[in-house]
Amino acid sequence: MIDAAAQGRTGPAAGPIAPAERDARVDLIGLTREQIAASLSALGEDRALAMRANQIWHWLYHRGVTSFEAMSTLSKALRVKLAEGARISRPEIVRAQVSVDGTRKWLLRFADGELAETVYIPDADPEAGRGTLCVSSQVGCTLTCKFCHTGTQRLVRNLTPAEIVGQVLVARDELGEWPSPTEGRLLSNIVMMGMGEPLYNFENVSTALKIVMDNEGIALSRRRITLSTAGVVPMIERCGAELGVSLAISLHAVTDAVRNEIVPLNKKYPIAELMAACRAYPGLNNARRITFEYVMLKDVNDSPADARALVKLIRGIPAKVNLIPFNPWPGSPYERSTPEAIKAFSEIVFAAGYASPVRTPRGEDIMAACGQLKSDSIKQKAADRLRAAEAAAH
Ligand code: SAH
Repeated sequence: MIDAAAQGRTGPAAGPIAPAERDARVDLIGLTREQIAASLSALGEDRALAMRANQIWHWLYHRGVTSFEAMSTLSKALRVKLAEGARISRPEIVRAQVSVDGTRKWLLRFADGELAETVYIPDADPEAGRGTLCVSSQVGCTLTCKFCHTGTQRLVRNLTPAEIVGQVLVARDELGEWPSPTEGRLLSNIVMMGMGEPLYNFENVSTALKIVMDNEGIALSRRRITLSTAGVVPMIERCGAELGVSLAISLHAVTDAVRNEIVPLNKKYPIAELMAACRAYPGLNNARRITFEYVMLKDVNDSPADARALVKLIRGIPAKVNLIPFNPWPGSPYERSTPEAIKAFSEIVFAAGYASPVRTPRGEDIMAACGQLKSDSIKQKAADRLRAAEAAAH
């Protein structure tokens, strides 16, 4: 494990370019089968390209191999050619942390030195042997939601399909879950709820999720994948039609005045438009509901009147409401609602006929809970100080 913080970040202006950036070999991760076939052709192969692409796909996503050497169904000559002209990327694990509750967080570094976090949340019942991977779609986020740590991060860029799929691959590597099991999976669900706004990077998220859902690879059903958005209204319909994954909406407020303040994207796509897009989401029914996420901020959005207004807003939409007690971060401007306020809110929503679970914060001790992800160099330095202090104490 290489520590990025210790090395400092290198960029084009700051120092030598990381080796991976100079690598001229084509990365096969994140490509469609057709693109893999085209890459074979570019390497001078001309026979049975589709079949070869299928075989490679199986090795990459069913078996999870990271070297061409291991692809024993390919001829030795082809393996050598692939090793020369192609590569199988993985984001580099900069830091791996485990919470007291079993939640695991990986700080990952991509080829250009940028960082993002991925979180694995095992089911609260360890006997269940299931778990959810919370995947990032961007380095940082442009949305600046007031209560979210990621929104305070300076640098933002979209993650590529390889970098999004790469998070799943790294988690499966770390969980030791290859070849892809059909049952009893530790990584049983995916939520696009990490850093970034997935609907602002839809092309890449879509390519990545299609790879994850592909039956001859990781083969995770769309029913086990949830995409969460702060409400990029024009992309919602397409998300449902093209991917058919479950939708979660970060609603968080019931009036435009409050939502403009805490989710500034609301100024562009106000609540009424967002609700209309939700009502039109393809494939909705009682078995497939929209999840409305609602962060509980003390004295901001947590009154019984807010709860009643929420129920009115979502009336008629097959929905459940996920109440998320606010997770604080250094310098955050809000407080978590009291347990009494959360309970009263939940009861009003429940009485109106909607499931209204309160999400237990997971991985709080390693800053892995909702809205706590942030991976800039400032936090890195703080983490290093902490580690140094821990090391000194032992
Ligand atoms: N941009 C997408 C994906 C991020 S998902 C979206 O907005 O949905 C992360 C979820 O955690 C969102 O519902 C977000 O609003 C919520 N969240 C952000 N900061 C939080 C905090 N400090 N405490 C609790 N939930 C938070």
